[in-house]
Amino acid sequence: ASIAAAGAARNLLHAAREAVRSEVDALGALDAVAGDGDHGVGMLRGLEAACRAADDADPAVGIEELLDGAGSAWSEKAGGTSGALWGAALGALGAALGDRERYTPVVIGEAVAAAAEELVRLGGAEPGDKTMVDAVLPYRDALARAVADGAVLAVAARSAADVARAAADETAALTPRKGRARPLAERSVGHPDPGAISFALIAATVADVLEK
Ligand code: ADP
Ligand code: MG
Ligand code: MG
Repeated sequence: ASIAAAGAARNLLHAAREAVRSEVDALGALDAVAGDGDHGVGMLRGLEAACRAADDADPAVGIEELLDGAGSAWSEKAGGTSGALWGAALGALGAALGDRERYTPVVIGEAVAAAAEELVRLGGAEPGDKTMVDAVLPYRDALARAVADGAVLAVAARSAADVARAAADETAALTPRKGRARPLAERSVGHPDPGAISFALIAATVADVLEK
């Protein structure tokens, strides 16, 4: 089962890479509003490195080791704040998933919560700072609620992805208090946070893959 889980993680990374590839210019334009415009290319570079690491890993490797390698590659190659945070979060996700015989939706929900905790610990952003955290925490909470109610993973992932999308859109009203967007904070008002939008895109892609 742990090899099957590693294969599922590899497929999800590939799907996320293609989703980000198709939005690379839009994400860059959003980051250019008040940041340095590299969010699309940075996310794509990170996901390409993560996929390469996952593809090159021993086929017998479990999900913990697979995500550890993918996360390290993402951090190393993406550059930028979001790359460091995504890489660390993937590593924390893998560590929390461990290598088990079975993964229940509740276990997966708890692992997502561990990844979110690592992201907050490392980045130090609080809700309302206008970062990806403003989409990640509502996603975590919606996923936990859905799995506690007994939803199967695909259904829980879809409802959480919808929540993340709405939350990411709502960051448009906020003024940035963290990251490179801060010096040009006022320009950002009226536009959503790029990292929140890319998170919501990846969350939707995960749900698409799980529904298949
Ligand atoms: P950089 O800002 O280094 O160019 P990116 O453009 O790839 O990196 O990513 C910018 C995104 O990173 C922001 O839109 C925001 O969502 C996220 N971000 C920045 N700082 C933090 C932080 N301290 N905690 C969480 N997320 C952050
Ligand atoms: Mg940037
Ligand atoms: Mg940058």
